[in-house]
Amino acid sequence: MSAALAAANAAKREVAETARKAWELGLVRGASGNVSARVGVGGGFFAITPMGRRCEGLTEEDIVVVDRGLEPVEGNAAPSSESLMHAAIYERRPDVGGIVHTHAAYSSAAAAAGVDIPPIVDEMAAALGGAVRVSEYAPPASEALAERVCAALGGRNAAIIRNHGAVAVGASPLLALDAAAMTERAAKIFVLASILGPVGRLPDDVVEAETAIFEMRKGLAGGG
Ligand SMILES: [Zn+2]
Repeated sequence: MSAALAAANAAKREVAETARKAWELGLVRGASGNVSARVGVGGGFFAITPMGRRCEGLTEEDIVVVDRGLEPVEGNAAPSSESLMHAAIYERRPDVGGIVHTHAAYSSAAAAAGVDIPPIVDEMAAALGGAVRVSEYAPPASEALAERVCAALGGRNAAIIRNHGAVAVGASPLLALDAAAMTERAAKIFVLASILGPVGRLPDDVVEAETAIFEMRKGLAGGG
């Protein structure tokens, strides 16, 4: 088996496994949400969940591999309708090896309110890079959405997509899933704590120290 084929197969396996776990965690429901993995290092190819399918029970054979121009090079299904967003993130973030997009309820509440999720729980800045910022609105699957999500994401590991959901990234799809779960947990705590009263942020020096840890880990994962 060629190295390129082995890399594509490994990416497809990781995407299917992560998509099933995202379903088990309740982060994706119905046909909403999608998962991808970069194929190999530095190439423009990525493996992604198929359009219009539940993440529940997806297998390696269901996953589509697309090239830089989003043309399917492997798999029989059409790639996720949010492939443009995934491609834009891989293009701008060489450290990213996996992406998870969800419509999880509390992340979507922040998306509807247009409110950033501030660093409010320990480890949040170390895991995500700081506050989770909300993008400007753009229609689903559009080029504008891809641009605006990248702008909100910057160098961090999660962003809220205005009136839509959330996106999380990591060195692998499973690490992106961890970031998606952390985002939903922080959003849930933020929404619930807001009912109780004003929400206290973590002290600035803690956020600064955690952000430094985040940058260091990212450097180790992505080589820069
Ligand atoms: Zn979506």
